[in-house]
Formats: sequence, structure tokens, C-alpha cells
Amino acid sequence: IKSIGNYILGEDLGQGAFGKVKLATHILTGQNVAIKIIPKIHAEQLTGEIHHHRYLHHPNIISLLEVIPTETQIYMVLEYCKGGELFDLLNDNKGGFNEKLVRKMFSQLCKAVKYCHDRRIVHRDLKLENVLLDSNNNVKLGDFGFARDCEINQLLESGCGSPGYTAPEADIWSLGVILYTLLCGELPFDYDDEEEEQVMINKILSGTYEVPESLSDDDDKKDDDEDQWITTNEDAEGEDSISYDENSGRN
Ligand code: ADP
Ligand code: MG
Ligand code: MG
Repeated sequence: IKSIGNYILGEDLGQGAFGKVKLATHILTGQNVAIKIIPKIHAEQLTGEIHHHRYLHHPNIISLLEVIPTETQIYMVLEYCKGGELFDLLNDNKGGFNEKLVRKMFSQLCKAVKYCHDRRIVHRDLKLENVLLDSNNNVKLGDFGFARDCEINQLLESGCGSPGYTAPEADIWSLGVILYTLLCGELPFDYDDEEEEQVMINKILSGTYEVPESLSDDDDKKDDDEDQWITTNEDAEGEDSISYDENSGRN
């Protein structure tokens, strides 16, 4: 299929668990969007995702522009995030980003998560693969496939049901893992083979992780102005790097 609705489909942007994400262009306006394509056999999975995502309108959350169902697929038309995943960007910046940049990205991510929590939505899948950057390098949170409503009344109403027991703390934990990873370039808790898995679990349970000496202290307010550059994928191939614009972040 070459087009859907008013959009001409282009290159693949990502491969998800249930379908693909493709770049697409509006036939009349030329606007670029990302279209998440999910086969209808996974529709059950998707109803929750769409249900939650469509009510979320925030500068640091990927906008869901429209949903186009066909006989076999559901197409989620999303705001295009040209900067791609933080996951890939971090892979090009081994050792982590500088603290000033992390402060900027992380505060934007926190605003997105707070906005969700204020509406009793828990994301439950916060990770670097689901945090994208737009063309101005502003953070855009996406992938609400595991999002749940943590409305306490749901628990009371449903009695022994399960939907209401999700606590927003899960997201707070994930934010901590993301913050660490952005600064250090590696996960705070990780394992290579199955034998190490239990060791990792024990470390998580006891909160045992290493803080590199290179990180500043709590009270260290030094302005790390030098080095406010991030490397893009193009950089790896030797082209221009992009600067991270301090003033482009909206509230
Ligand atoms: P899944 O639920 O299968 O993980 P995602 O919504 O996370 O699907 O999308 C999979 C991948 O597609 C993302 O990790 C990202 O690389 C890419 N992608 C998703 N949405 C966009 C977007 N709006 N702009 C650019 N790339 C996107
Ligand atoms: Mg995802
Ligand atoms: Mg998902």
C-alpha cells in the first residue's frame, strides 16, 4: 500500500511489537507525519493505546493527529519526531550526555509524565526507545500501548478487578533509570546472560548501583556551558552536528 487517507507512505521509522511505524507526507499540505500501522487482529491491544493517547495534549507528548481504520489495519497518524529515539542518540554519544543537556531533556520528560499523572494516566513503558525528539530537539513522549488509568475509584468499583491497582510509582522508578542512563550512557541495572539476571534483580531490590565520580554533587551549580552539543546520527558519518537550543523548549 502506497497511501492511506490523505497521506503518501514513505520510509520505515521503526518496528514495533505489533506493527510498523512509517514516515508519511500529506498529499496537499506536504506535512510530514509518522504513521503507526497495526493489524486489526491486535486491535484489542490498540484500543487502550488510542483511548488514552487521544486525550493527551501536551508540547512534550507526541500528538495523535487522527486514527484511520481500514478493513485489516488501524493507522495512527502521529506528529513526526525528526530527531528519533533518545535510545539511538545515546548510542551515538557513548558515556552519556553532558549534565546541562540532560537537565533540559529530563525536565521536559518530567513535564510530560506529570501531565499524564495529573490525569491519572500511568505510562508504564517509559524507556529511551519511547522518548523521541522533534526537529527542534524538544522531548516528545510516545507509545501509550501500556498506559493505564490508575483512578482509585476503579479499584473500589471493580472490587477484585485488576485495572485499578496500577500505581504511578512505576513511572517514577523508570524516570530514575532514564536519568541515570542519560548521564552515564549505561543502565544502572543490567545483565548479559541469564545467570546474571538474579544478581541484577537483587541489586534492584537493594538499590545497589554505582554513581560515577564524574557526576556533579547535589550542591554543585556550576554552569557547564562548554560542550552543549549533541551528536546526531549524521555525525557518526562525519557531517554537521546540531546544537541543542536552550530557548526552544515550550512549557
Ligand atoms: P511499539 O508500541 O511497538 O513499541 P512505538 O510507538 O514505540 O511502537 O513505535 C516504535 C518505534 O517507531 C519508536 O521506538 C520510534 O523509533 C518510531 N516512532 C514511533 N513514533 C514515531 C514518531 N512520531 N516519529 C518518529 N518515529 C517514531
Ligand atoms: Mg515503543
Ligand atoms: Mg508500545
